[in-house]
Formats: sequence, structure tokens, C-alpha cells
Amino acid sequence: MNLDVNTLFLVTIYVEAILGLLLLFAWAQNTTIIALAVWGFAHLLRAGSIMLFGLYGSVSNLISIDFANVVLFTAFALTWTGARLFDHRPPRPVLMFAGALLWLVSSRIPAFNDSFALRILLSSGIVTAYTWATAYEFWRGRSEPLVSRWPAIFMLFAHGSLYLLRTPIGAMLPWVPATNQLFESVWLTVLSFEGLLFTISIAFILLAMAKERTEHRHKTAALVDPLTGVANRRAFLQDGEAQLKRQAADPHPTAVMLLDLDNFKSINDRFGHAIGDRTLEIFADVASGSMRHIDLFGRLGGEEFAALLRDTNRERAMAVAEQIRVGFAEATREVEGRPVGATVSIGIVISHDAVLDLSALLAQADHALYRAKDSGRNRIEIASIELILDRVRRGVDEASAASSGGKPAAKSAA
Ligand code: GH3
Ligand code: MG
Ligand code: MG
Repeated sequence: MNLDVNTLFLVTIYVEAILGLLLLFAWAQNTTIIALAVWGFAHLLRAGSIMLFGLYGSVSNLISIDFANVVLFTAFALTWTGARLFDHRPPRPVLMFAGALLWLVSSRIPAFNDSFALRILLSSGIVTAYTWATAYEFWRGRSEPLVSRWPAIFMLFAHGSLYLLRTPIGAMLPWVPATNQLFESVWLTVLSFEGLLFTISIAFILLAMAKERTEHRHKTAALVDPLTGVANRRAFLQDGEAQLKRQAADPHPTAVMLLDLDNFKSINDRFGHAIGDRTLEIFADVASGSMRHIDLFGRLGGEEFAALLRDTNRERAMAVAEQIRVGFAEATREVEGRPVGATVSIGIVISHDAVLDLSALLAQADHALYRAKDSGRNRIEIASIELILDRVRRGVDEASAASSGGKPAAKSAA
């Protein structure tokens, strides 16, 4: 491959600048992700440093090497700072300028200044340190499920490693070939080309990360109840229907519960809305804590919650409900110093096969819940599935009788 370094320099300056502007433009559209702006400036700074390197020979080395390096290190430090900001960690101003300062101080030392190998070693070391630090920041934030985080970590780690290898490889390959022209060095061509590819890939990966986070936030906001952090009505119904459909192929007992806090209006009236909210949060914590991660639990609205427990028979469902009932009363004996003493009533239905859909099961659980409320609250009632199935069958029979009589069939579950 024959690539002219001067052309590569020009292309890289152009690409860095365009990508910098692209990142800034993305930030302008979504100013909540400040990291985008920081990464945009990092690319612009890198464009500036390459421009300065390109002036080698026509301006003093102080500008084309020392100052260019200072700008380059600051650019890599900015990319690192952007990664910290992206994952909500504060910037580290001292470390951010440490690379540039180290370079400026070292270049005042004549022994260092005269050694080409030492200068390459230090400049590579600084770039590698910032690049690896950026990869490390992204690694630390890996609990956030962003797919694009992984190519970012890989790219940064690989680029940092290649930079560090400059020293040993550079010792083997001639930096300054026979013609004594730095710009004709093969190694410089390879590095410039890799730098160009890296800068393009990393800019797009960073953009993808920001975009993925925004989409993830929107999706979460649409499916999670903001007060309690559990699934909202829409998410619960969606996931519940899907779960029941899967169950149709492989029938197992499934428990559906409706849970409604008792006399909640009076808790609000006596202790205030804030304590009411806190009580709802406590309830969501107690209930989630009593279930397995495969169970679905959500807030249907107000002080009404629902759960869908896979592979759960009558006895297990009763045990879970009892644990929630007792645990909630215990946990709200005192809420923020006030004697709230909240309780919950629970209605349960067990589905043995896929005869009833989720809304029909919830309707049955609601009947049971009504009985629990009617019998004095702070109770658990379970709907008799035999009775329900009997009613369903009768409903189907009546419907078929009606349709054979020429009337449209009305399908009723209850
Ligand atoms: P019951 O035992 O029959 O269920 O009585 P209840 O008072 O719990 O039921 P009702 O439906 O009469 O009242 C529900 C109350 O829940 C009324 C409403 O102000 C309150 N509520 C609904 N959503 C919230 C909320 O997000 N925060 C707070 N603090 N209160 C809420
Ligand atoms: Mg209630
Ligand atoms: Mg209610």
C-alpha cells in the first residue's frame, strides 16, 4: 500500500474537524449529554494538533512538535473527561492537564530533548494512558446495558496498545529512512492511517452510545412507574400477556394477584401526600422483595398493584401473598417517624391452563380482592378456579346455543 503522509494529514484534519462538528451538533440536539460537546471539542483539538504537526519544517519545532503535542494530549484528555461525564463522574482537572504539563516540563530537560527514543516513549505513554483511562471509564459504567459500550472499550484499548507499541516497533522499523525524511517513514504512514480509522470509528461509536442511552431512557420512561420504579400498567399488561401466551404451549399453574392498599385515602388525609408516596414505595419494595426475578410485578395505578407468578400453585401463591401482607404491615408500623400502620388486601387467581387471558384473570382476582375488602381488609382471598371454569364453560355453551339460534356469540369470561 502506498499512502502519502501529507495527503493523510490533510484528510485526517478534515475528518477530525467534521466529526468534531458532528458531535457538537449532536450535543446541540440533546444538551443533557454534555459528554457529546466535550468529545466534539476533543476532535476539533485533534484536528488542530495535526495541523500543527503538518507545519513541521516550516515553523519552529516548539510549535510543530511541543505545542502540537500539548494540544494532542489535551484532546485525548478531553475524550477521557467526556467518558467520565458520560457516566456521571466529575472531571479531574489536574489529571486532565497532567499529560501536557509533563511534556512541557520534560522538554525543558536537554537530555530528554535530545533523545528521539525518549520523546517517542513519553508521548506514546501519555496518549496510551489517556486512551486506556477512557476505556476504563466505559468499563466501569458497564452495568448500564448499552451494547455500543463494548466496541468503544475494545477500540480504545486497541488504539492505546498500538500507540504504546510505537516504541519497540519504531526501534525495529526505520523512523527516518535513507533519504533522511521523517515524512517518508513507513511507520508514520501506518500510524497516521490507523489514527484516521480510529478517529472515524470512535466518533461514530461515541455518537451511538449517546443515542442508545437516549433511546434506552425513553423506553424505560414509557414502561416504568416513576414513583416506585416498578413496571407501570402498560408494561405489566404487555409482559403479562406475552408470558401467558408462552405458557399456553407449556401449561403450568400461574398465579395472578391484585394488591390494593387498605384505606389509603385516609393515610393521605392523616399523614400527608408525601408519607402516602413513601408508603407506596415501601409497598413496592416489600412486594418485589417477596418475589423471584422471573415474576412480574407492576403498579396498575394509584394504590393498586398486580403480580403474575409463573409455576406457582395455590399454596405457594398464598405463602407469597402472606409474606407481602405481613411484611408490609411490619415495614409501615412507622414511616418517617409517623405511626402509619398501613395494610394491604390481596385477591388471587390461579390459572392452570390458557383458557383465560390476562384481563379475564385480573377480573377474577378483582372479585377475590373485593371479597377481601368486604370481609374487613388486611386479608388474602383466592378465587375458586373450578367455579370460574364452570362459568366460562357455561358462557361458551350459552354463546354457541345463541349463535346456533342466529344471534351473534357473546364471549364472556366472568
Ligand atoms: P380501600 O381500602 O377500599 O381500597 O380504600 P382506599 O382509600 O385505599 O381506596 P380509594 O380508591 O378510595 O382511594 C385511593 C387513594 O389513593 C385516593 C388517592 O388520593 C390515593 N392515591 C392514588 N395515587 C396516589 C399517589 O401516587 N400518591 C399518593 N400519596 N396517594 C395516591
Ligand atoms: Mg385502596
Ligand atoms: Mg384502589
